[in-house]
Amino acid sequence: MTHRFLIMGPQGAGKGTQAALLAQRAEVPAISTGDIFRANIKGETELGKLAQSFTSRGELVPDSVTNDMVRDRLGQQDTAEGFILDGYPRNAAQVEALDGILADLGWSLDAVIVLTADRDELLGRLSRRAELEGREDDTAETIARRLDIYEQETAPLIDAYRARGLLVEVDGIGEIDAVAERIDVALAAR
Ligand code: ADP
Repeated sequence: MTHRFLIMGPQGAGKGTQAALLAQRAEVPAISTGDIFRANIKGETELGKLAQSFTSRGELVPDSVTNDMVRDRLGQQDTAEGFILDGYPRNAAQVEALDGILADLGWSLDAVIVLTADRDELLGRLSRRAELEGREDDTAETIARRLDIYEQETAPLIDAYRARGLLVEVDGIGEIDAVAERIDVALAAR
C-alpha cells in the first residue's frame, strides 16, 4: 500500500510536527516546501536568494519556482512508496501542477489530511513559535499576511479535494500524541 499524502491546514496548526511523525510511522519522507526553502536560504543558494525575497515578506514564492522544486523532489528515489507533502499545494495553480507531476510519475494521492484549529489558537501558537525559533518570517505582520493568503488561496483547495473524495479532517487542537492518534484513526477509517 502506498502512502501518498498531503497535509494541509493553517499556519500554526501543527502540520510540520504531524507530517514528521506520520512520515516515521508510514516510513516515507516528509517533504516540506517551507523547509526546503529555509535550507536553501541558509545555504545561500540561488534558489535561496530568490525565495528569501518572498518568504521574508510572508508572500508565496512564485509558482513556477515552487512547482519545479516539488517536481524535482518527488522524482527522487526515496518517494517510491509514498511521501507526505507539507505546505504544497497552496493555491489552485499548484494543485494543477501537482496533478501533472503525479500523472507524469503514474501516481495518485491516497489522502489529503486537513488539520483544523481556530484563529485565536493559531495566533497564540505562532507567537510562541516566533519566540522559540526566531524565524525571520514570524513577525506579527508576516504571520497575518500568511494567514490571509491561507484563507484566500489555500483553504478553498480543501473543497476541491473533498470533491475528489480524498479529504480526512482532523482536529489539530490537543497534545501532539493525541492528534497523531486521531490522524491514524481517521486514515484507518477511510
Ligand atoms: P508557514 O506554513 O508557517 O507559512 P512554511 O514553512 O510552510 O510556513 O513556509 C514558509 C514560507 O515559504 C511561506 O511563507 C512561503 O513564502 C514559502 N512557501 C512554502 N511553501 C510554498 C508554496 N507551496 N508555494 C509558495 N511559497 C511557499
